Parts: sequence; structure tokens; C-alpha cells
Amino acid sequence: MSERKQFRAIKGTRDILPPDSALWNWFEHTAREVFESYNFGEIRLPTFEETTLFARSIGLQADVVQKEMYSFPDHGPDAVVRTEEGGLIAIEIKESLRLSDNEMRAQLQQYVEVLDQSLSRRGASEFVSLRPEATASVCRAYIEHNMQALPGNQKLYYIGPMFRRERPQKGRYRQFYQIGAEVLGQSDAPAIDAEVLEMLLVFFNRVGLTRTTLYVNSIGDKNCRPQYVELLREELRKVKDKLKEDSQRRIETNPLRVLDSKIPDEQPIIEKLPRISDHLCEDCRAHFAKLKEELNLRRIDYKENWRLVRGLDYYTRTTFEVTAEGLGSQNAVCGGGRYDGLVELLGGPPTKGIGFAIGTDRSILSIEESGNAPKLGGLAVYIAWMGQASYPTAVNIARKLRAAGLSVELPPEEMKFKKSLGLADKLGARYALIIGEDEVASRTFTLKRLADGDQKKLAEGELLEYLESERRR
Ligand code: AMP
Repeated sequence: MSERKQFRAIKGTRDILPPDSALWNWFEHTAREVFESYNFGEIRLPTFEETTLFARSIGLQADVVQKEMYSFPDHGPDAVVRTEEGGLIAIEIKESLRLSDNEMRAQLQQYVEVLDQSLSRRGASEFVSLRPEATASVCRAYIEHNMQALPGNQKLYYIGPMFRRERPQKGRYRQFYQIGAEVLGQSDAPAIDAEVLEMLLVFFNRVGLTRTTLYVNSIGDKNCRPQYVELLREELRKVKDKLKEDSQRRIETNPLRVLDSKIPDEQPIIEKLPRISDHLCEDCRAHFAKLKEELNLRRIDYKENWRLVRGLDYYTRTTFEVTAEGLGSQNAVCGGGRYDGLVELLGGPPTKGIGFAIGTDRSILSIEESGNAPKLGGLAVYIAWMGQASYPTAVNIARKLRAAGLSVELPPEEMKFKKSLGLADKLGARYALIIGEDEVASRTFTLKRLADGDQKKLAEGELLEYLESERRR
């Protein structure tokens, strides 16, 4: 026998199977309900965009852009998919998929620079990337559809997969899922930030994600942040020798990111660095104070964390993060903040913005570990039919029960009574509906509750009524 290749999901990706998928659907459904109660509407976005959209918005220096995006030329010779020995082998695409490859990175950087110089002269081989996050896409859509002309703030939410080539571990995947919300418009009132946080916590509460901590910070704006970043850089240069390689590099590329460091030896050094809260301009200071007032008004518990700067370049003023228990080192379940200049940076009108992204994978893990996961759905009725004469009755009643909203399993082939009931048990059905010759003759059904074996004989109308009332309980 020839050996066949065993296909497996690509490292860092996974299948979400039933019954877990029911939990995922419930989680996403609850988000829709809560977000829509705050007058947010869903935006469905493409999963890939021009690479330059992410490079421009997230920043060329960010790890996400430099190392973690799945990018490939949209067309041109690099993207040719070759067939070999009867199987599809995307050799060329595979080689260019990974931006950690130095040559590709240099090529991309050059490409972005050329594009930035002359957006009208696009090269023949356009790079596209699987989205590592969705805020950039929301802003792109906001501009593209001229949404600033619509009345009021635009309140949008999205649900879907994101892609980052990170090192997989518990709670960290290469294809992971986010639920995000964004408010875009002319106002940057702290009440918007507070309402967004309230909505987030109402949602977490509703899904039983309760052992969480909300951290907030303000990282200033274009008037005060550059001076602070420069001051931070100067102070970091003084202690450069004591820092590890990553932090040393970040002193020049993105000093704020040094504050993210989890390396134990670096902690005492970081604790002595200047703090942004002492360097905010008057407007940013007032904005942050008002935000805290608003949070108190809404009885939202939070902790201030001056080191919460977020990895992405585009954040201004409010930043926040929610951590949850039971997740080990990857314990952030939501991150977000304000990004007032982003739309403009992408070629749109001056626009204020704030938003967050919830990590669905980690949130669900935390809910499961805390034992708060609800028991969902499951099979209500297993139809144990016997004898060809009872089959039409079985098909008929199955359709009626399903129309009444019950989950029903109708075995496609006749089985012995014992085997049939055994399978009903194994499938976790709550009831077995027994239909044999006797039942057909007497126009009744025998309904057996599998938990305790309790059995009743019911006419069709009674059966529907009984099961519907059970369902509502
Ligand atoms: P970020 O866009 O990096 O702020 O991420 C927002 C949230 O998405 C995080 O708090 C995580 O819960 C989740 N997240 C980010 N990256 C990953 C990943 N590689 N795997 C799983 N969840 C992730």
C-alpha cells in the first residue's frame, strides 16, 4: 500500500469542533446582543488588504508588521502556484509568505517606501496581507464609504479571524479570533471612552468572564507624547548596557515598547524611568481625569497602569487592557484605546477614534477554566423508530419537532430497539421518542426521558405541547 500524506492543520491554527463551536457561537451571539443594545452595527470586512494599509497604520517598526504578517504578492511571477506529481504545491507563495525572511522584509520595506513616494505609480506586483488586526480595515472602510458624512458617530463592531505569525503557545495562535468595536467621528469626549469600556465589561459580565482586571492609562497625544518619548529615549540610553537585546533595539525604534518588557532583570530599571502621567499636556491630563470620573459614575472598577502603552503606533491618549485569570502568561483578553490621528494618516479627514479588540480564543479558555461555561443546546429528541411501517410517521414528527425549535436526531436506517436507545444515550439526548407498530396503530407516541427512564404515552398535539413547555423551562 502506498503511504498517503496525513494532512494536519497548519501550526498555530486549529479546528473548533462541536460542542465547543456552540460555545463560540453563543459568545459571539452575546457580543452582538450587547453591542447592538449600545447602538453598534456590524461591519463585515475582507480578511486581506493591501500590505501598505497595515504598514502605514500599525507602523513599519512594529513587530506585527516586520515579522508577523502573512504577506504575498497578489499577482506576478512570485504568486504562481505549481502542480507537481498531481498535487498542488504553492512553492513560490510559500517562500514569500514569511516576512521574517530578511530579503522579503527588505523588499517589502522598499515597496512601501516607493508606494509612499508615489501612490499613483503602483508596481506590477502588489503585496497583500492577511489582516493581523481589523482597526486599519475599519478606518479604510470609513474613508472609502465617506462615513464622516453620516449623522453622529459611527459605532461599528466586527467579528472574525486575524492572522499573526507568532510563536504558538497556550492562548496564542497564528489564526485567532477577535471581536472588536470602534467609534469614529468628530468627538473625543471621554464619555465615549467610558461608554465603550462599560459596554465591554457588560459583555464580559454577561458571558461569565468575571475574574478580570481593567487597566487604563493615557499615553498623551501629538502635543506631549513626542517630548516624553524623547525623554524616555534619553533615559534609556543611559541604562542601555543593563538591558537585553530587544529592549536595546527598541530604544531607537520604539522606546515606549520597552515598558512592555516582562524580563525580570529589566523590571527595577523600568520602574525608575520617567512616567508619562507626569508629562501629559493640559488637554490630555484633563481628558484622562474626566475619563476616570466617567468610569466612577458608571461604577466601573479599574487600575491605572502607567506602563500600558500598547504595541501599536497609532494609539493616543486612552489605552486600556483587560486581563483574565487562568490563562498563564497570555492573560490579556482585550486591548484597546484611542487613535485620533489614524484616519487622517490613512488619507481620510481629521477624525477621532476609539476601539477595542477582544481575543475570543483566550476569553473562551478563561470562561471554561473558571467553570462558568453554560450548558448549551444539545440533542433534545432522539427518534427510535422500528419497522418500516413507522418510518413515515417518524419522518413527519421529526419535521414538526424541528419546526418547533427542537434539536432532533432521526436515524437514517432501522435499528434494533436496544441499539437505538443505547445510541440515544451516547448522543446525550434528553428524550427518546419511541415509534413502533403499536404507536402507529394507536396514533400515539411513547416519550422516554432518558435521565430517569420516565415514560409517557402522548398524542401528537400533547407531545408537541409537552416538549415545547420543556424547552422553555
Ligand atoms: P491586540 O490586537 O494585540 O491588542 O490584541 C487584542 C487581543 O487579541 C489580545 O488581548 C488577545 O486576547 C488577542 N490576541 C492577540 N494576539 C493573539 C494571538 N496570537 N492568539 C490569540 N489571541 C490573540
